[in-house]
Amino acid sequence: MIMQFQQVPPALGNQYEDDPVLRSYLKRSIPSDVLREIEPTLVEMGELAGGELYQMQLADRLNEPKLTQWDAWGNRIDRIELTPLWRVAERIAAEHGVVATAYEQKHDRFSRVHQCALAYLFTPSTDIYSCPLAMTDGAARTLLGSGNSALIERALPHFTSRDPKEFWTSGQWMTELTGGSDVGASETIAKPDPDLTRNSELGTRNWLLYGRKWFTSAATSQIALTLARPEGNPDGGRGLALFYVEMRDEQGHLRNISIDRLKDKLGTRKVPTAELTLNGTPAQLVLGTTDGVRNITPLLNITRLWNGISAVSLMRRSIALALDYSHKRSAFGSLLSEKPLHMDTLAGLQAEMEAAFHFAFLVAELTGRAETGEIDEEQTLLLRLLTPLMKLTTARQVVAVVSEALEAFGGAGYVEDTGLPMLLRDAQVLPIWEGTTNVLALDALRALGPDDRAFKALKAEVDHCLASVHDQRLLEPARIVQSALAHAESWLAEAMKVGTPALEAGARRFSLTLGRLMELALLCRHTQCARDNESDTRATRAARRFAVSGIDLVAAADF
Ligand SMILES: Cc1cc2nc3c(=O)[nH]c(=O)nc-3n(C[C@H](O)[C@H](O)[C@H](O)COP(=O)(O)OP(=O)(O)OC[C@H]3O[C@@H](n4cnc5c(N)ncnc54)[C@H](O)[C@@H]3O)c2cc1C
Repeated sequence: MIMQFQQVPPALGNQYEDDPVLRSYLKRSIPSDVLREIEPTLVEMGELAGGELYQMQLADRLNEPKLTQWDAWGNRIDRIELTPLWRVAERIAAEHGVVATAYEQKHDRFSRVHQCALAYLFTPSTDIYSCPLAMTDGAARTLLGSGNSALIERALPHFTSRDPKEFWTSGQWMTELTGGSDVGASETIAKPDPDLTRNSELGTRNWLLYGRKWFTSAATSQIALTLARPEGNPDGGRGLALFYVEMRDEQGHLRNISIDRLKDKLGTRKVPTAELTLNGTPAQLVLGTTDGVRNITPLLNITRLWNGISAVSLMRRSIALALDYSHKRSAFGSLLSEKPLHMDTLAGLQAEMEAAFHFAFLVAELTGRAETGEIDEEQTLLLRLLTPLMKLTTARQVVAVVSEALEAFGGAGYVEDTGLPMLLRDAQVLPIWEGTTNVLALDALRALGPDDRAFKALKAEVDHCLASVHDQRLLEPARIVQSALAHAESWLAEAMKVGTPALEAGARRFSLTLGRLMELALLCRHTQCARDNESDTRATRAARRFAVSGIDLVAAADF
């Protein structure tokens, strides 16, 4: 007789209802009347993410965006067709206000946390549709901050629309062949349009852009914010200006833009990332003819927040699937869920995820405060420092966590039609785009500024977190936080005396130490609160586990 053994695939339930970390966090951080109002939207998104969208994602696995450069009659058309999943994702994102929620401001500063919770649920089932949403959110924030009323009136209603027919997304074209990190080296030139009768729809003067953009994700967006150097401006970032581009005219034709090709990437395969040539593309200045790199910073802060939320959401997805599988797969006579070592391995991943979660959502909270003006000077410095720290720390965690989660499936984790390997390939982009680990570590040093006010703000936040911790089991994690902080501080003082090369060489270890100790402090605070108010002791395991998984990464100074 042939034995028929069939494996049961992992499954997902409602991704909000099944997530004790998200639910416990919201309970602590959002007033109960606000939570009551927003909860139905989260339940709905959780249902879609674990159900219909997840099934569509699996079915869409082999589809990829297609670029058609020529029509049958020899006309250059450069049309990109998205995959079915992305078309649905666009509609759902608009209808559920995955961008709009942050701007409708129904719940003041909590609106940003609400939006990030929606994004966290939505992202892992939509194959990085979070990319155009992040850039759209960033473009909305940048235009609002620019005070350019013509552009705000023109684009904001579209970026924040809940009507899919009205909804626009934005790209962000910075990276050129000369550099993505070193964006000041950009070669794209802007010339004032010599035809003064040819105003844009906005009634403002056109500039014409000439150059090549080397990485432009979501090239199907309606608009883009981009950098170009007005002719005659000096070299470097200061000589660049920030421009607004509407990619297509009323007939849907690209405005002097050719899509040279789509990138053949390791992951994010649904994201149409294009190389573009701008050959006299009409554009409008957003804010002055210089300081483009500084002026696009609000966009980067938002996309870095999204990067962190995406990192946490992919960790969460890989663990949810691995945990479900552990209740289905047997080895050596019992389920994996009954193997102490297997469950210990998953507990290590859960600890990383919970720590990263609280860090990403702290940055969401501070961003929400900044957007509603409820932030003081100290917290502004804190947000400036924590944004790069959070992005770089969580992006490293997600690659490690998802990689380990695939191993939890054994060989199945390496097999494409399980849908699992894609998680790892997609995760790998998170440390690269929106600033690599090293580039953000150097940015964190800049955020410290010439005085130590930002560092003091971070220390104050850590103290605030630990002040409430009194449970015996959390005392040792709290001590580890303080010890890592003291070590980081003494390293900084020593490195500053030695000079820039020493500071730069240690910046990554220093930044990761600050990132991880901040995570542990937040985890301790949350755990204590959950123990006190919900008699929930679940998070204690995560805090204790995370505390011994490498917090102090500042190597012995070797100056
Ligand atoms: C899938 C994907 C989509 C993307 N989409 C977009 C997009 O839509 N728009 C856009 O503008 N860009 C986009 N990018 C580009 C991305 O932002 C850049 O690739 C990234 O910023 C790095 O720039 P680079 O490729 O020029 O690498 P480089 O800057 O050449 O970096 C190479 C290495 O050098 C290191 N390094 C650089 N400077 C320093 C330093 N001073 N000290 C120490 N180490 C340093 C970096 O950390 C990195 O490890 C995308 C990239 C990918 C992979």
